[in-house]
Amino acid sequence: GRSFRPDGTKITFPNGVVVGGDQVTIMAGPCSVESRDQILLSAQQVKAAGGQFLRGGAFKPRSSPYSFQGMGIEGLKLLREVGDITGLLIITEVMEIAQIEPMLPYIDCFQVGARNMQNFNLLRELGHVRKPVLLKRGISATIEEVLLSAEYILSGGNYDLMLCERGIRTFETYTRNTMDISAIPVLKKLTHLPVFGDPSHGVGKREFVPPMALASVAAGADGLLMEMHPNPDKAMSDGAQSLFPDQLNKLVDQLRQLAPVV
Ligand code: PEP
Ligand code: MN
Repeated sequence: GRSFRPDGTKITFPNGVVVGGDQVTIMAGPCSVESRDQILLSAQQVKAAGGQFLRGGAFKPRSSPYSFQGMGIEGLKLLREVGDITGLLIITEVMEIAQIEPMLPYIDCFQVGARNMQNFNLLRELGHVRKPVLLKRGISATIEEVLLSAEYILSGGNYDLMLCERGIRTFETYTRNTMDISAIPVLKKLTHLPVFGDPSHGVGKREFVPPMALASVAAGADGLLMEMHPNPDKAMSDGAQSLFPDQLNKLVDQLRQLAPVV
């Protein structure tokens, strides 16, 4: 509950970046790490746009077992390398308990994906690590269920937790999911945790990502998690919702009119 920390949780990362508070944090990058060239260029573009975190999946939760499953540990090593080159923090998805330990040396923040929001054993284990976690809302999870999943991590003693609205499944099919902007102020009221918006998975079509990013911040989001690819048409996953680098640049400039991006 918010009464635990009326001013809200602030998370300080190793390079001094603080999540929570008055500023907006930008986490951006491709859906998946695909190669050294791709992730290095992505990192340089995220840095140039004004982002603080590089995102990129090394372990990918794909709907089809025949789709690209990610580069695994090799992808984590590349993330760390390009994070160090550019000074960006690294956030990437953890899918199972056995990955936690091997991931620790390479990452700054664990991402729990929508499909694992109710993987309670994984959440419990993440309560025992000393590394921040960003927990995404499940594809059809209620707010109450998000809160209870968060509680699995918090009750283990890890208070460095962020929540993320990434769209929920509704009857609407024009967009990939229905971005529930209202979840942002509701979660801000009910918890002391920083709340992020992920408009990329929220809508699934890049042209609608900037307006939903702006809407998220206008609704009180502490940060955004967004997909951007140096060449979205060639992306191995989620190309259609990945911003072009110049779109990210322009969007961050627009966001600066709503809140400081640092
Ligand atoms: C992702 O961020 O690439 C991802 C798989 O997101 P989600 O878990 O929200 O589907
Ligand atoms: Mn994705």
